[in-house]
Amino acid sequence: MKRLTLFFLAFVLMFMAGCQPKTTRYQAEFLGLFDTVTTVIGYAESKEEFTALAQKIQEQLTRYHRLFDIYNDYAGINNLKTINDHAGDVPVQVDQELIALLLFAREQYFVTGGAFNIALGPVLKVWHDYRTSGILDPLAAEVPPRQLLEEAARHTALEGMIIDEAAATVYLSEAGMRLDVGAVAKGYAVERVAQDLEAAGVSSLLLSVGGNIRAIGGKPDRKGIKPWKIGIKNPDPESPDPQLCNVLIVGESVVSSGSYERYYTVDGTRYHHIIDPKTLMPAAYFSNVTVICRDSGLADALSTALFNLPLAVGKGLVEGMDGVEALWVIESGEVIYSAGFGGYRAD
Ligand code: ADP
Ligand code: MG
Repeated sequence: MKRLTLFFLAFVLMFMAGCQPKTTRYQAEFLGLFDTVTTVIGYAESKEEFTALAQKIQEQLTRYHRLFDIYNDYAGINNLKTINDHAGDVPVQVDQELIALLLFAREQYFVTGGAFNIALGPVLKVWHDYRTSGILDPLAAEVPPRQLLEEAARHTALEGMIIDEAAATVYLSEAGMRLDVGAVAKGYAVERVAQDLEAAGVSSLLLSVGGNIRAIGGKPDRKGIKPWKIGIKNPDPESPDPQLCNVLIVGESVVSSGSYERYYTVDGTRYHHIIDPKTLMPAAYFSNVTVICRDSGLADALSTALFNLPLAVGKGLVEGMDGVEALWVIESGEVIYSAGFGGYRAD
């Protein structure tokens, strides 16, 4: 009798497993958003089902991309460029989603002691213009003159960003001000989209916007759910190991900031795109900083901020935050990990 019950139970379990929808891994890539490549990896019962989901994700990311853009206007919407264009002029009415990003960025400015500052726009524009010319014409590449950087730095006080939540307006109080959300927009947009997908019942997906990675759940496997394995890029192109290490995540974000991402060269010296607000020069502490935590907007803002902070200060910041881990690669190539980082390592 007992044996019969067991046999029956095994049969029911086998039948249930057979009824589980069989899913296949799919991947979609699209260009044109946030100046980088977006990748979506998911498991679905059919290609049509996955493509419909990937398209929805692309539409949502496009909406955020347009709102957070500082270079282009779009018919019918006021975006960050509109706010910048009206600096010192009038408050601009914008979508609540843009206000939410600016409030989040202001919070992170205080959390990071100003190492992450979206009002650094005027200084970032000087570097952006010199980098663009330097890449186009490498022989004529120059470092921005000190005086130009210091003049730009006079208009970088975040207090000048005046947000009226009730009226949904943003006003930049000085004509020279300019907001730049390049350090947080990708991660923030990915987080919003991921949370919407989770609320809609999506339980397994991997989103990457230019390497800003956000996992929804883990990945399905015949035996259940397995973590996603993410490689962290080695900033040293000459190293035999293309990756520093692999990490395993279930529902977390992994975001890196690196000096190798965007740079130009003047007289053999590289000048990258993450600017230390204290020196107005490319931060010189690390070649890579990677943050792991749930919220990918926080991971993005923090990875940029930590890049601009001395190791001891950054470590203190990370160790004081719940659920945040980080690694720092110093110029010698040595890698330093926060106390709980090992819990994510796959090797
Ligand atoms: P990436 O965009 O390459 O992934 P980051 O997230 O670190 O890397 O963002 C770098 C961008 O952030 C720069 O291109 C610039 O627009 C902006 N940025 C640079 N330095 C700062 C800073 N100190 N505070 C806020 N934003 C910054
Ligand atoms: Mg960032």
